[in-house]
Amino acid sequence: MLFSNFFAPTSKNIPADAKIASHVLMLRSGMISQTASGIYCWLPLAVRVMEKITRIICEEQDKIGAQKVYFTTIQPANLWVESGRYDSYGKEMLRIKDRKDNDFLYSPTNEEQATDVFRKYVKSYKGLPQMFYQVHWKFRDEVRPRFGVMRGREFLMKDGYSFDVDFAGAKRTYDNIFKSYVKTFRRMGLVPIPVQADSGAIGGNMSHEFQILAETGESTLYYDKKLLSVSDGELMTTFAVTDEKFDPKTSQISEKDLVVSKGIEVGHIFYFGTKYSKSMEAFVLNENGEKIYPEMGSYGIGVSRLVAAIIEASHDDHGIIWPESVAPFDLALLNLHPRDGECVAAAAKIYGAFSGCREVLYDDRDVSVGEKLADADLIGIPWQVVVGSKNIGENIVELRNRKTKEVIKMSPENVIERFLSKCCCHQSC
Ligand code: ATP
Ligand code: MG
Repeated sequence: MLFSNFFAPTSKNIPADAKIASHVLMLRSGMISQTASGIYCWLPLAVRVMEKITRIICEEQDKIGAQKVYFTTIQPANLWVESGRYDSYGKEMLRIKDRKDNDFLYSPTNEEQATDVFRKYVKSYKGLPQMFYQVHWKFRDEVRPRFGVMRGREFLMKDGYSFDVDFAGAKRTYDNIFKSYVKTFRRMGLVPIPVQADSGAIGGNMSHEFQILAETGESTLYYDKKLLSVSDGELMTTFAVTDEKFDPKTSQISEKDLVVSKGIEVGHIFYFGTKYSKSMEAFVLNENGEKIYPEMGSYGIGVSRLVAAIIEASHDDHGIIWPESVAPFDLALLNLHPRDGECVAAAAKIYGAFSGCREVLYDDRDVSVGEKLADADLIGIPWQVVVGSKNIGENIVELRNRKTKEVIKMSPENVIERFLSKCCCHQSC
């Protein structure tokens, strides 16, 4: 992608109403554009990151047998009347009428709809277990939308719904989801902290949040410092608690091991038994022809919130530092002197060699050296290849690591080789 054709309206100005780093950096790097309170347009850089995050989530969901669907963003109110949540959900729900005066709503979550699809088609215990997920837009009319996309009103969520024949099955599903969420967040370069949670409006008796540590987080977490070094398996029994649940009198954690930190909630899993299957008459017949109500759970990941949360966890004074797995591009190629024929030839050679196998943002713009370097640091692509007239006479370019700031001088050929050897389609490139 040529930067001269790419829509990333970067800016040096620090927006007055942005209070946290991720909000400032998303606005300054041209990732988002606000259209109303808590409602944002997602611009190309942000979409590339969100799609990478989505791909990791989908891969991990597919591995545990969850099946991708699309429920709808607009739902008929009667499903929520059936479950009993139409009134109790309150003002966070955006209520809509169609032209015939029927009541609809914009999905804040999809338990009712998942249950409705299930009950229409699954009639026998043989159709269990079943697990659906989607990555889809939600709307919640939050009292205080803030921190940019971190707490938006419209936001992208991965939401999953499971149906099991009994509690043992539901617990197995819950544990599989738990482990898969840990893997999912780790693949994004994050350190997930499981938190034993109240199950809130959805109700039920088993629930964990997944938080990541950040000074700007809205939750306060209490945990044993060994939590940060235990294995994935041990995370299921070693977890943090939030301030509502922490009681210094009963806590098992010794004073010297206790850590208190702020966290951002990036995922939330619930087991809620037969709450929806019973209220919505979603039953199946067992071997003896008797009615049984499936044991259900629901599982959310804040996909759009993750874009901001990853930035909170990984940035410096100059800008974003994307983990490689979710970076909008693999490489930033900077031609500092686009009017110098030798530089143009070297940059074009590198760009051409990566065509089709590495994602490169080639800064070919006719702007100052300072602006190019500042924009590259701001946008935060993990590797920068810098082509400049000072070095190119000796067939040298600089490979810079955005995170460590390490600079390695090498020939354009070596840069190509280094990144193509990591490329899965190397044979055909
Ligand atoms: P919160 O306590 O932050 O309001 P929640 O408990 O209401 O979250 P869930 O219903 O569990 O959230 O939704 C699943 C995930 O969706 C959350 O873990 C969070 O990452 C994300 N999420 C929830 N509300 C928002 C929002 N207003 N903006 C962006 N992401 C959100
Ligand atoms: Mg909420």
